[in-house]
Amino acid sequence: MYNEDTIAAIATPFGTGGIGIIRISGPEALALAARVFRPYTPLDWSHARGFRAHYGHIVADGQTMDEGILLVMRAPRSYTGEDVVELQLHGGMLVLQRSLQLCLQAGARLAERGEFTERAFLNGRIDLTQAEAVDDIITAKSEVGLGVAVGQLTGKLSRWVEATGAAVTELVASLEAVIDYPEEDLAELTPAEIDTKLTAIITELEAMIDRAAAGKVWKEGLKTVIAGLPNAGKSSLLNQLLAEERAIVTDIPGTTRDTITESALIHGIPLVLVDTAGIREASDQIEQMGIARTHRELAQADLILAVLDASQPLTAEARAWLATLQNKAAILLLNKTDLPLQADLAEVEALTGGLPQVAIAARTGTGMDDLGNALATYVEQHQLQAGADSVLLTNVRQEDLARWALDALRSAQQGLHEGLMEDLITEDLRAAWDALGAIVGRNPEASITDEIFRRFCVGK
Ligand code: GDP
Repeated sequence: MYNEDTIAAIATPFGTGGIGIIRISGPEALALAARVFRPYTPLDWSHARGFRAHYGHIVADGQTMDEGILLVMRAPRSYTGEDVVELQLHGGMLVLQRSLQLCLQAGARLAERGEFTERAFLNGRIDLTQAEAVDDIITAKSEVGLGVAVGQLTGKLSRWVEATGAAVTELVASLEAVIDYPEEDLAELTPAEIDTKLTAIITELEAMIDRAAAGKVWKEGLKTVIAGLPNAGKSSLLNQLLAEERAIVTDIPGTTRDTITESALIHGIPLVLVDTAGIREASDQIEQMGIARTHRELAQADLILAVLDASQPLTAEARAWLATLQNKAAILLLNKTDLPLQADLAEVEALTGGLPQVAIAARTGTGMDDLGNALATYVEQHQLQAGADSVLLTNVRQEDLARWALDALRSAQQGLHEGLMEDLITEDLRAAWDALGAIVGRNPEASITDEIFRRFCVGK
């Protein structure tokens, strides 16, 4: 278990603001607050009730340092499950830091990152997916991502895990009861019934894992690389998408030497945009390094926004580059359409194998709406769409454990088909149950046997 000491930290962001909050959690939270806070109306600290606010002053050595509100939450009905006190003070960094210092002098320990949420988990207030959702909410990049995170915080993913785990339990119970309690009259499933149920669980898990890619997109953003020959208009496009001048736009080819990563929300779709050094044969070493990075970024991209200067006739270099885009996850942007068209579009189409195309003028912003629509189509075609109420696996940890469970279930099914002994099959099922439990960080002491006993009252 964790240290049962009392922790304190500034809970609001670094900088100035209307209010700033110091959060204190632990058995000594109230005793400690009593040492630094003078309530305007006398307060019986040891019997202070939860969900009450008290107006008063922060006092250091008899000197008033700030005025504020003290909020009391009593264990176990608080965020951490412990006694929690929040001091709402003025949001100046100096005020907050000095007040925090006072709390530390009064006996609190400075909280580690995420320690309040960790305590909430360790005290059983929330499970692991819910703890992860707290961070997802804070860092949400899109409406859908936020909705999914909020759903996860309220336990949607936990309930899915629980339901899936219960389905596995039923199978183990049926197989196990036959082995261990043959004299009991238990509702036993036939192998055919077990097989059908197993298929249903496997299908469910497969679908969930397939949709994890969508979870990643809505949470982290679609990793999108802007690619093209020098001067095609990549930096201009990036600026358009960000609606602000971040990258240096210049007329000299090959001056975008490093990659720039930015987040943007286009038609509600979160993108992590990577601008790259122009792809071409570079003579100078720094530029070559930039190009090597470009190829790495391209290899890892979810989507390529390929920018072509359509105001120029196709060069041999452009043809060669277009040909490399065939069969890639790419949208071809015909840029500079404010100028007379010079590129041979039929040839472009043939070279790129019919990639989706959008005509734009990055300099003026023409065509950005069409680009948004093309992105939406891309998301749809790749089954990455999700709604704010979707239940999704949203990180690698969850996905890995789900895959683990899936492997174990497949192995159980194979065992069933090969007519293996029941206890070999249940071993796989138990492994699947454990992996599912690990998604929510189920108490490691918990065992499927306990669950079975609860369900069937075997032996009563
Ligand atoms: P990059 O090398 O691919 O990043 O290209 P830049 O964004 O730096 O653009 C190269 C040049 O093309 C600059 O002079 C831009 O102003 C110009 N440019 C970019 N987009 C357009 C466009 O849509 N129309 C016109 N006329 N010029 C553009």
